Amino acid sequence: MKFSLPSAALSTMWLASGLKTAAAFAPRSRTIVSRAGAIASANLAPRTFATQTNMANVLKLSEPQSELLDQVDVFIFDCDGVIWRGDSLIDGIPETLEKLRKLGKKMFFVTNNSTKSRAGYKKKFDSLGLDIPPEEIFSSSFAAAAYLEQTKFKETGKKIYVIGEVGICEELDLIGVPYIGGPADSDKTPDMGPGGKLIVDEDVGGVIVGFDRNVNYYKIQYAQLCINEGGAEFIATNLDAVTHLTDAQEWAGNGSMVGAIKGCTGQEPTVVGKPSPLMIDYLAEKLGLDKGRICMVGDRLDTDVLFGTDNGLKSVLVLSGVTTEEKLLSPENTITPDLYADTINDFFLEVPAKVES
Ligand SMILES: [Mg+2]
Repeated sequence: MKFSLPSAALSTMWLASGLKTAAAFAPRSRTIVSRAGAIASANLAPRTFATQTNMANVLKLSEPQSELLDQVDVFIFDCDGVIWRGDSLIDGIPETLEKLRKLGKKMFFVTNNSTKSRAGYKKKFDSLGLDIPPEEIFSSSFAAAAYLEQTKFKETGKKIYVIGEVGICEELDLIGVPYIGGPADSDKTPDMGPGGKLIVDEDVGGVIVGFDRNVNYYKIQYAQLCINEGGAEFIATNLDAVTHLTDAQEWAGNGSMVGAIKGCTGQEPTVVGKPSPLMIDYLAEKLGLDKGRICMVGDRLDTDVLFGTDNGLKSVLVLSGVTTEEKLLSPENTITPDLYADTINDFFLEVPAKVES
């Protein structure tokens, strides 16, 4: 399978989006006018926006045609908690996706999980019986590689140190950026005897931190030395607090790996996955899409819904993943989706139903 990197499109777009520094990730100004307009056209009660809203006003999807389908041309789906939970497909999803395709809706599948490359995710979709074209898949491992492409990292002649799994390594292979670490360092321990020290490669110019089930002290120390002493750039695929390794419970997410490196460097990473604007800017520019007719659908407030609201998209929170209705509606929550639903099957009134062939 071949994936092409969006070099030309990304080079103008990423520069414009200012991804280079952590400061770029402060919330952008809200697109209140267009969102308010969309709400008015759907004859919904006016609402205020993320940082100032009363959460009791969040609307549960009940009239999908007028509230959602008439207003959206493109759906961006988070995967974990929306399409599947762990390795289990959520009931009714294939039929719902097929119905959306038959309505002519474009779809993209965006995941902050960096453990697989886009090719790896294609295999996961296949294994679940979902026939998704590879160009519709965006993983944070791909985003990390694309960021290096944009910043012309290869021209520095440096290499990357990876905390993470094979997905990041496969994407780096595709762009020809050398790397060390990753799975190869999973069984290593530094010499911590008298006078012991860890010798690091002086040519490391960047450290990518992604979800790593085999993170260890060797990797943390290696990254710390590369950043603190070698001046390497600190890049995080995502900051998710928890993830769905299995559908039995929540598991510590990449926020824990990134937190370890933040803790020993005092630095904030450049984040390339949700909620950074990278992927949506790429899609909007490449496909000439009107952001106001794109809807982000996810199960997480602090990545998915924020990704939508900060980038001028519509947003739907589904309750099939990590966020409960109680959490969504609690006074402590300050992040507001346009709508929420139990699952994406609620995008159609009669669910689940088999699509006619
Ligand atoms: Mg999710």
